[in-house]
Amino acid sequence: MVQDSLLDCFSNHKSCSPLESTLLPSFAINVGPLDGSREPLLVENDGTLLGSYLLLGWSSNTTVGEKLQRGVEKMFSPRQPQTLKDAVILTRRLGQQYLWVDALCILQDDNEAKQEEISRMSQIYKNSVFTIQAASSNAVAQGFLHTRKAPSIPPCKLLFSRDTEGHETYVYARLPTYTKVVGDAPTNSRAWIFQESVLASRVLVYASDQVYFACRQSVKRVDGMWGPSYGGPTISPRHYRNLRPDLFNQGGLSASEMREETLAAWYTGISLFYTYRSITDSRDRLPAVSAFAAEAYMVIGARYLAGIWEVDMINGLLWRRHTSPQAKAWQRRPLNKPEAYRAPSWSWAAYDGPISFSLQWQRAIVKENSAYNAKILHAASTLSGSDMYGEVLDASIIIKGYLGLAVAGARDCPNNTYSSIMLKTTDAQQPLCRATLDIDHQPIMLICLLLNGRAGILLKVAPSNEETPDTYTRIGHFTFVSSFKLDVFEDWRTKCEVRTVRLI
Ligand SMILES: [Zn+2]
Repeated sequence: MVQDSLLDCFSNHKSCSPLESTLLPSFAINVGPLDGSREPLLVENDGTLLGSYLLLGWSSNTTVGEKLQRGVEKMFSPRQPQTLKDAVILTRRLGQQYLWVDALCILQDDNEAKQEEISRMSQIYKNSVFTIQAASSNAVAQGFLHTRKAPSIPPCKLLFSRDTEGHETYVYARLPTYTKVVGDAPTNSRAWIFQESVLASRVLVYASDQVYFACRQSVKRVDGMWGPSYGGPTISPRHYRNLRPDLFNQGGLSASEMREETLAAWYTGISLFYTYRSITDSRDRLPAVSAFAAEAYMVIGARYLAGIWEVDMINGLLWRRHTSPQAKAWQRRPLNKPEAYRAPSWSWAAYDGPISFSLQWQRAIVKENSAYNAKILHAASTLSGSDMYGEVLDASIIIKGYLGLAVAGARDCPNNTYSSIMLKTTDAQQPLCRATLDIDHQPIMLICLLLNGRAGILLKVAPSNEETPDTYTRIGHFTFVSSFKLDVFEDWRTKCEVRTVRLI
């Protein structure tokens, strides 16, 4: 099935890339001949080595029995995870020569080389023939090339309608769908799988029930059925096309339109597909999305500060925790702040957990209420390595905007600690707007910084000194919504004072 699907994809799919030799990554595993007469070898690319390779989706932090420096000649030793051995066997069977696995092909002990290779990840993902994803929970130990249990309900094809010209429409009765099986698989909740799936041309998913081949044009299953419905976060390249500027640009868009579209794709990717995923190593929050950022940079071309694009900073700051009652279970989770510093409080990357942006709405507001739009006077971040989209050691912004006070009112859902709260005016205690706190601490008086005419962020005073006066951290988000009285909000807004503050 895999070979046929690949051939079909290479020859017949307009949306998919053809099979081409590309420059190999700095290191790749030459898997050796099909008969296994030679062990796999790790080869270093001196900059001239061309070829095609499969990519085993994994994580840099996966423990591998034998590290790179000692070579991979011992690939088939009992200490190596079965997934790795299976990936070598699969690569050989498909007639491919090279395999790329981050845990082996990125120098783990040479930080500079590691950062450099990570900064090329977007190309490494994009250039691979396909990415192998072993989607069942114990795949690392048990491998993925084993017999799968048959689907519990055999698929069947039913005639749905026939028009006057004899065209027939069928429905396929089958369970479960790709979205269900692959989307709900434990591995799909891993943060690293997001960019791996967005940037891959094709993915070969070894799921718990069967094998799926997904490319930009279709999804094929080993049982012959196809076409999953889109019902939530999933990992098919077809669904991620809209997040890739190089794929959604069909021509006809101006440079500024492209930038807007790419920013929109960025916010969608981060809020809908990335932040709900979990990471094993807390420090990976930014690195696990750095290849996606590198891709967006090709169009946006602006500075990237701890997960936010400087060119669209005001919108980038207006993220918030999910509180909507319509939100799905995976969205309605509290945010957690890791103990060790990872990102400034104003970045979504400071937290673990799903966030959202109200992008289109915010953009309209920014345009319509220019008098209240905040201005970024200065922004800076210190990177931990050479990857400009990677880990940060610290970051701060100096922002000039309207600052006011409000009183925290009741929760919208009294029994839900994480529900949004009402803000009230300090004098007459009139309902003012709605707010969400990033984590559940409830100060009575809240400092509000308007970022545009209708929305802003909630602040808390941070320790400051003479060199860095007026320093604050972000603790939440507030927004005016139509269930409140606009004249009360507008009146409150006029009482806010223009201030210049530093946010960390
Ligand atoms: Zn295809």
